[in-house]
Amino acid sequence: MASRPVLVITGPSGAGKGTLIRTLVARLPVLEVAVSATTRPRRPGEENGREYWFLDDAEFDRRIESGAFLEYVPYVSGKRYGTLASEIDRIADEGRVCVLELELEGALAVQDHVPGSVTIFISADVAELERRLRERATESTGEIGQRIELARWQLEQAHRFRYMVQNDNVARAGAVLAAVVETELSLARSPG
Ligand code: 5GP
Repeated sequence: MASRPVLVITGPSGAGKGTLIRTLVARLPVLEVAVSATTRPRRPGEENGREYWFLDDAEFDRRIESGAFLEYVPYVSGKRYGTLASEIDRIADEGRVCVLELELEGALAVQDHVPGSVTIFISADVAELERRLRERATESTGEIGQRIELARWQLEQAHRFRYMVQNDNVARAGAVLAAVVETELSLARSPG
């Protein structure tokens, strides 16, 4: 039997990864999303230990030194995000399949270093991305500008990942994403 996959969902900020992942996990309860650590401030409605572990810089540094992260990256405005290796182990020990939601560099790092990782890039039209980021508007105007610039560059990187799902229509994208994941789960179950 092939090893259990680690699903990595990536794509530009505003592409709708969060919504698609919530729908995916509701459809396929064997999946569980790993909780990352971040130094960015909590947004309204977010809870420590649910969306992220919200750490200060000193604590994030301590976790780096203790080797707690599978990968970590600095993102916009120097805020850092990192995948806790303990989350991957915890989810595997429960007999479930781990889903990581990562920005592009982290997704590439996991693709290179984690056997069985399956990367899926969620893409969207650039004008639509810009609209969603402005609508979210929880960051300062400058930071939204930075995120849009980054998103434009990220859209050009889709070819570096195993799959690409275009999210112009959330129902269609959700169905395609579920089909991709179900295929990968059944391939992992079949011998050879
Ligand atoms: P947000 O601040 O909108 O929650 O997330 C910003 C970006 O960080 C998103 O693209 C998200 O996928 C990414 N991200 C979240 N957790 C991690 C992580 O542990 N590692 C990496 N490399 N990126 C992450």
